[in-house]
Amino acid sequence: MDNLSEKQNVFLLLGSNLGERLQILQSACAMIEDRVGFIQSASSVYETAPWGVLDQPVFLNQALSVSTALMPEEVLRIILEIEHELGRVRYERWGARVIDIDMLYYGDLVMDSARLTVPHPRLHERRFVLAPLHEIAPDFMHPLLSKTTKQLLYECPDPGEVEKIS
Ligand code: AMP
Repeated sequence: MDNLSEKQNVFLLLGSNLGERLQILQSACAMIEDRVGFIQSASSVYETAPWGVLDQPVFLNQALSVSTALMPEEVLRIILEIEHELGRVRYERWGARVIDIDMLYYGDLVMDSARLTVPHPRLHERRFVLAPLHEIAPDFMHPLLSKTTKQLLYECPDPGEVEKIS
């Protein structure tokens, strides 16, 4: 496993729209803390309208700031592993994903490989990402767009509804 001597701050977005959504987010947080690193801050949980495919249940979303000693590819490997474990363990027969974990930022890193793009290429287009992220990192600067979360949220044209529930 590749470890960095200095820790990096990685921002993740959790989403769930099937099953025991809140419990699934809590399980994902516990697994992330165990395998990726200390969760420095967690946003409230937000209920958000589906994006893209509208004919599906509403989502719960939560943003996390995690201090990690892992390289970005290793963080990606682990979040995919957690998605797989949570999906497989509880709801395999439904064949749908019960948890989605996206890497929004890995510090100030800008990278675009076949497997991983950071910053996440669509984060600035999505209110369901920006609203929870704004709660924990309003002044974080997007390293490509050179705008803070606050600015990105203010300028975001996405009409999707986002409601804080906890
Ligand atoms: P999706 O299930 O639509 O979230 O897509 C998951 C796939 O997107 C993964 O297999 C990753 O290889 C790829 N991917 C690229 N960039 C990212 C990112 N920043 N966060 C999460 N997945 C990513």
